[in-house]
Parts: sequence; structure tokens; C-alpha cells
Amino acid sequence: MIDLPGQIESKRCSRAGCRAEATWAVHWRNPRIHGIDRVKTWLACEEHRDYLYDYVEARGFPVTITPAGVVDRVPDPDPVSGAQRAGEQEE
Ligand SMILES: [Zn+2]
Repeated sequence: MIDLPGQIESKRCSRAGCRAEATWAVHWRNPRIHGIDRVKTWLACEEHRDYLYDYVEARGFPVTITPAGVVDRVPDPDPVSGAQRAGEQEE
């Protein structure tokens, strides 16, 4: 039941029946069943980005949209406790 981030290989839109390439990532969480660090990510094409966002937002869940492939998690809502650096270095 563990669903690790960073294992999204295909960049297909998460909308049922859509096979378009995803260019956006919709990150969301259900506060009733998910912990603060549990984030679900849907990939979305240009056409369905707003659909997926609205779907989540209509339920009152926190949701963030980022370009696909840039980040795979929602930014820490509490930067004080999560002083984590990106660690990206150019070689
Ligand atoms: Zn789509």
C-alpha cells in the first residue's frame, strides 16, 4: 500500500480515458485520511489540469499545481520544521 513518489514513468494524464501527455502535476491530500506528508499526485494534460484541480478543490482538499516533472511533492507547508534543501548541484 505504499505509493512512492518519483516512480511515475509514463507522463500520461491521470484523467480516466485520456492518453494525452501530461504537462502538469496536480498534488493533493485528503486531510481526513492522509497525514500531512502524504501527498497524492495526478498528472494532467493541458486540457484536464483545471478539471482535476476543480475535482479536488470541490472536496475542500488542499491542492497545488506544478509543471510535471519539476517537483513530485507539495512544498512543505511548514518551512520552519522542514528546513530541507533541494541538494541539486551542477556537475
Ligand atoms: Zn487529459
